[in-house]
Amino acid sequence: METKVCIIGAGPGGATAALQLANSGIECILVDKATFPRDKVCGDGLSGKVLTLLERIDPEIGKRLQAALFKADSWGVKFVAPNRIGMDIPYKLGYQTDKSNPRGFVCKRIDFDNFLVEEVKRRKEITLLEGVNIDKYMLEKDGYHISDKENKIKIKADILIVANGAHSSFTKDVAGIKMEPQHYVAGIRAYYKGITDLHPDNFIELHFLKNMLPGYIWIFPLPNGEANVGVGMLSNNARNKKVNLKQLMLDTIANDPVMKERFKDATLAGSIDGYGLPLGSKKRKLHGNRFMLVGDAAFLIDPFTGEGIGNALYSARIAAQQAIAAIEANDFSDTFFEKYDNEVYRILGPELQMSTKLQKLIKYPWLFNTLMKMGSRNQQLKELMSCMFHEVDLRKKLSQPMFYFKLLFNR
Ligand SMILES: Cc1cc2nc3c(=O)[nH]c(=O)nc-3n(C[C@H](O)[C@H](O)[C@H](O)COP(=O)(O)OP(=O)(O)OC[C@H]3O[C@@H](n4cnc5c(N)ncnc54)[C@H](O)[C@@H]3O)c2cc1C
Repeated sequence: METKVCIIGAGPGGATAALQLANSGIECILVDKATFPRDKVCGDGLSGKVLTLLERIDPEIGKRLQAALFKADSWGVKFVAPNRIGMDIPYKLGYQTDKSNPRGFVCKRIDFDNFLVEEVKRRKEITLLEGVNIDKYMLEKDGYHISDKENKIKIKADILIVANGAHSSFTKDVAGIKMEPQHYVAGIRAYYKGITDLHPDNFIELHFLKNMLPGYIWIFPLPNGEANVGVGMLSNNARNKKVNLKQLMLDTIANDPVMKERFKDATLAGSIDGYGLPLGSKKRKLHGNRFMLVGDAAFLIDPFTGEGIGNALYSARIAAQQAIAAIEANDFSDTFFEKYDNEVYRILGPELQMSTKLQKLIKYPWLFNTLMKMGSRNQQLKELMSCMFHEVDLRKKLSQPMFYFKLLFNR
């Protein structure tokens, strides 16, 4: 088979790149080793970025996602500090009087990723190949020649968009990006039914409990009384402290005085599974001769929030746009694709840098405790944190030591 663009991986990143290309009238081949619907270990939290980006590609996709019944609309986030003081921060101030346009969702990945693949299937410009595990990559003069292990499927492409996730061998072997434990989070996830005290407006919960620092446990409410529960911790901390994340989560649920009560009648549905989160806390080269890396294969997960889906979608759209420009210019060189990195880091860079600084604050539980104590009493601070979800400039303030100094001592 021959194509101008081949996309490896039909997760959120790969599917989005294909949809963007299709909307510009460019045909492509999209390959995935799995057959959809397939599961992906995740917290299942979709931030406002996801809907915004899908609407940019095609407002009709946004409408269909808004109408989908498999997701829970989420209106905010609850942070719980090590001293157990919690702060509810809505994504939008005054949302209670206007719930017409939710932007945040919680939705099982088996459903969300399948939704995107169904969108792909609507487009005649996209050839979707499921159940094909791409194992070999050969860069020749006339393009990339790729195939599965048995050479049953062979594809020649002018450009590769590599969107095959956190365990991408292309990222490691061809792009030369290695896993570094200080820029990588280990995460596990489980589904529980029957947890009590979930927020009536499905606020997602992040609990920075003393026994878990610098990691945290999350509870993200899903439809039908279910919730996604998981634990994440920087890999070098998990290794140094020899933490068994699964055991840590089960012990916390069984013994922590608050969690014990909330999980009293809860039942675990299915298994507890783990996967890696490659963080964007370090700038890397995301392209080369005839290829661009997208999403987790490009190490673009937010180091503070653990959000990767939105960034996968943003990088995918940029990659598709750069692929179109390369086809027009008939230039598939390393130098041409520099524009891809420039654009990714222009758009996502400031946020990733801010989040890298915020991630480091978790090392100071006393600061976190004080902030939460004040925030729970201080409406202004709550409003500020609310705006933080939309404005990078405000996050910038939050990452500067002077901000806390003023807050703590200028009361
Ligand atoms: C525990 C945990 C919790 C998380 N929580 C959140 C959260 O709440 N919100 C959020 O936004 N992000 C979260 N993330 C991050 C999020 O899951 C990823 O950022 C997101 O899945 C990235 O999308 P992607 O398309 O780049 O890769 P993926 O979703 O991993 O998709 C890659 C695709 O490539 C396919 N593939 C892999 N290898 C090959 C191959 N050789 N040939 C063909 N196909 C291949 C796979 O089958 C898969 O379909 C979490 C991650 C973890 C591990």
